[in-house]
Amino acid sequence: MSRAAEMLRRYLEQRAELGEPPLILDPRAAPAGDEPRPLESSVPEAGTGRDGRAEARRRDTPPPSEAARSEGPPRWRKDAPPIPERGLMIAPPSVDLFTEDPLARMGLEELAECVRGCRKCELHRDRTHAVPGEGPADAKLVVVGEGPGKTEDETGRPFVGRAGELLTDILSAIDLPREHVFICNVVKCRPPNNRKPLPTEIESCVPYLHRQLAILRPAVILAMGGTAAETLLNTRQSLGSLRGKVHEFRGIPLVVTYHPAALLRNPHWKKPTWDDVRIARQLVERHD
Ligand code: URA
Ligand code: SF4
Repeated sequence: MSRAAEMLRRYLEQRAELGEPPLILDPRAAPAGDEPRPLESSVPEAGTGRDGRAEARRRDTPPPSEAARSEGPPRWRKDAPPIPERGLMIAPPSVDLFTEDPLARMGLEELAECVRGCRKCELHRDRTHAVPGEGPADAKLVVVGEGPGKTEDETGRPFVGRAGELLTDILSAIDLPREHVFICNVVKCRPPNNRKPLPTEIESCVPYLHRQLAILRPAVILAMGGTAAETLLNTRQSLGSLRGKVHEFRGIPLVVTYHPAALLRNPHWKKPTWDDVRIARQLVERHD
């Protein structure tokens, strides 16, 4: 198909999508080439008559832009579940005026440096890189996973392996590009053979996560997988029972969903995850 014919096809599609009346194309009236030419609307526009002026005006009107086409409700909203009832609440810690917490004064970058040099637990021994997390300081959404995997350990960046690619796709499907989201983990160094982090390792590392959340204070936290959910909500309840509620972590709404690595193993969880992330997305919007 020639370029002109392709442009015409798109124009006609856009007209149809915008609910405009169909154009009748007369191939006999086509110029020497193979491009058909729009002749007239089969339904005359009110007050324009059939004297050719309306047709001239129509032809001068540029095809509706992509922007006009993409107006209207975003795709993720279609059939999104309503925001569910409230769940667990983790209150902010009481302020202790007498113990000096060195993390309490740090900003995100200083904290990341501190993590890179940290030896508070045994996980530091096998790491190539610690993975503090990344994202903008004004992120509205913070995603919390379990801990770095192989690719994350190699690169020092969170969620960059296969599970990370899936997370990136999920975020872009809710119109929150990965670059706008802060992404981090409960433990910042890779557990050997991707085993679950031990309770003692989590206990050593979690102050970094708590400080990150205190600095960022996002509109919503998305806890992906059991380790993130149990750690932040200080509970042993199952992931299944924690889903479908809006919890609160130190005043910040928190939504629980499956870990993307689990989705790669079990595609049946994709639909519930899609529901969970759209709940989180609505909470981000509500915050605006
Ligand atoms: N899984 C996680 O929990 N975090 C990562 O950063 C990568 C995989
Ligand atoms: Fe430090 Fe956390 Fe790494 Fe352990 S996992 S060494 S606490 S940064």
